Amino acid sequence: MSSFDVERVRADFPILHQEVNGQPLVYLDNAATTQKPNAVIDAISDYYRTDNSNVHRGAHALADRATVKFEAARTKVAEFINAPEAKQIIWTRGTTESINLVAASWGKTNLKAGDRVLVSAMEHHSNIVPWQLVAQATGASVEAIPVDATGTIDMDAFASMLNANVKMVSVGHVSNAMGTINPIEKMIAAAHAIGAKVLIDGAQAVSHWAVDVQKLDCDFYVFSAHKLFGPTGLGVLYGKREILDAMPPYQGGGEMIETVSFAGTTFNQLPYKFEAGTPDIAGVIGFGAAIDYLNNLDREAASAHEQALLAYAEEKARATDDIELIGTSANKTSVMSFMLRGAHPADVGVLLDKQGVAVRTGNHCAQPIMDQFEIPGTVRASFSFYNTFAEVDRLFAAIEKAKMFLL
Ligand code: PMP
Repeated sequence: MSSFDVERVRADFPILHQEVNGQPLVYLDNAATTQKPNAVIDAISDYYRTDNSNVHRGAHALADRATVKFEAARTKVAEFINAPEAKQIIWTRGTTESINLVAASWGKTNLKAGDRVLVSAMEHHSNIVPWQLVAQATGASVEAIPVDATGTIDMDAFASMLNANVKMVSVGHVSNAMGTINPIEKMIAAAHAIGAKVLIDGAQAVSHWAVDVQKLDCDFYVFSAHKLFGPTGLGVLYGKREILDAMPPYQGGGEMIETVSFAGTTFNQLPYKFEAGTPDIAGVIGFGAAIDYLNNLDREAASAHEQALLAYAEEKARATDDIELIGTSANKTSVMSFMLRGAHPADVGVLLDKQGVAVRTGNHCAQPIMDQFEIPGTVRASFSFYNTFAEVDRLFAAIEKAKMFLL
């Protein structure tokens, strides 16, 4: 067991201290969204109480204060993932919009008939469908890199798929459905060797360890603030400078222009070229507070605690009759996906909720991999650093009760 001071950390998250259906809440749905510390909630409400105004265009003190905080958060995120420059951080509405932006802007200008986009078979729908849309428009194809029965990418199959027609490899750093950590360093190097670009969907990775985009050498890295203890509806697109510079705008409107006339419009510099309209100012400032919070946390100890929770939970699962773990790769984040034999995952979820235990059930927006495993979905318990061993015990006690109703 780890020495991480989980009780001290839990005190920072007000939502955890409540009862649900007459039981103390056990929140094990962190892969869907993480909870927010007081620092984030306070930063958002302080912004609306004292600084609320529009950014980048005001000639008054409030607008100046809002702009300074808004841009400071961009710098914090750049430093957090070790991006060379803050202007390589584009604010979006989330991972989904970041991928759509790249697929629409980079994809439409760089893909043509006969080109190939590779994604893995375990991707979230948001890393499949935007590529299918651009493939329809350009004549390119989208192909799935095979995944084996343990939920691990088949690297030999990946190597054999690579040829000069592959223009983009777009893969998740971590699977949201199973927690598999993909060998993206090797995949990035192999893709670059044949001249392809690489987008990494980091939605499920950033909350678990420090990501270094320069070390990874990926061309794009995307994630959502809400899975990193920040607000919903906000995301990040990181890209290499020369690639972002060459990409056309994604959406048109205010902020993203330099001059507008009916004879022709010129576009703003990075990052504003991709940020049309008034952004989620409060969200960005709240996210800055989330980054500060994480920078003040011993992230290695937090990560070790999460891994200890996973090991403890999976040991209990293996010792429990009727539980089948889905996704047994050797490298995983703290996600335990499982089936209770003979029971539909949705029914299990309802019975756990009745006992105050919050999990996610269903196909986790990763229908292709569920189809491959021939299951309707899984029950997914996903642990964050504020979860406890006692909560894992509560999960298994609740599963035992659910079994009495279902099996
Ligand atoms: N990719 C992965 C791996 C995810 O887990 C998620 C969220 N479940 C997304 C993309 C989409 O993120 P968002 O809904 O915040 O855009």
